[in-house]
Amino acid sequence: MKSKGISIAEILERWTSLFLEIAFPGNCLLCSRSLIFDSDRIVPLCLSCRHSIKSIEERIGDNERCRRCSKPLISEEHLCMKCRTREFAFLSNYSIFEYKSIRELLYLYKKKGNRRLASFFAERTAKAYKRKYASLPLIPVPTRKSEKRRRGWGHTEEIVKILNKKFGITVLTPLSRKEARAQKELGYEERLNNIKGKIVFSPVIKELPEKVILFDDVFTTGATVDECTRVLLEYGIKEISVLTLAMD
Ligand SMILES: [Zn+2]
Ligand SMILES: [Zn+2]
Repeated sequence: MKSKGISIAEILERWTSLFLEIAFPGNCLLCSRSLIFDSDRIVPLCLSCRHSIKSIEERIGDNERCRRCSKPLISEEHLCMKCRTREFAFLSNYSIFEYKSIRELLYLYKKKGNRRLASFFAERTAKAYKRKYASLPLIPVPTRKSEKRRRGWGHTEEIVKILNKKFGITVLTPLSRKEARAQKELGYEERLNNIKGKIVFSPVIKELPEKVILFDDVFTTGATVDECTRVLLEYGIKEISVLTLAMD
């Protein structure tokens, strides 16, 4: 990611806030325990809460999951009931958590603006990414402009920034988003229509890779990542897989 255009004031501000986080780490966001004795003071969660948040892979492994959307299977084989009838432009989605496991954290992160939680999400994303996708470039699904304005930062962009800086993962940001209604309160058909034509591509590098991984927070109907995929295919990327924090 580019680091051009960062002023000395911004660098100072970052270092000051990093120092304050380490010197005065506060309390765990989930159980309120003081973080003063925790080794990693950047993540605002105590070690015991962090360990209690289990990924789907940690709970049931990856064998009993849908090949297309990664939903845990109960009595089906290979594909879940939904994936037997629906079509996606992307190859497959892999979700790290079930939505209920991180619902509260996502609320604190996105709605309450607790930016430091990006470190927790990045840590777990890096682990899944390295296991599943080795070295493919990652493209974040762009945050809605109004949401970014309200909070001052984008939730997916903040996570991929850490994935790039701390974990050395290649990140490309060719996508941006025109304003549209939030997808959250809409049904599947409405989501498809609402997002259609709202994803814009701007070339960031001369030679685009053949394969990329799209990264988003929650996989619900797949409409948003599908639209992003269509745009990337249009611009010559051949194979797109999706990595999401959670599936709803
Ligand atoms: Zn805790
Ligand atoms: Zn499925």
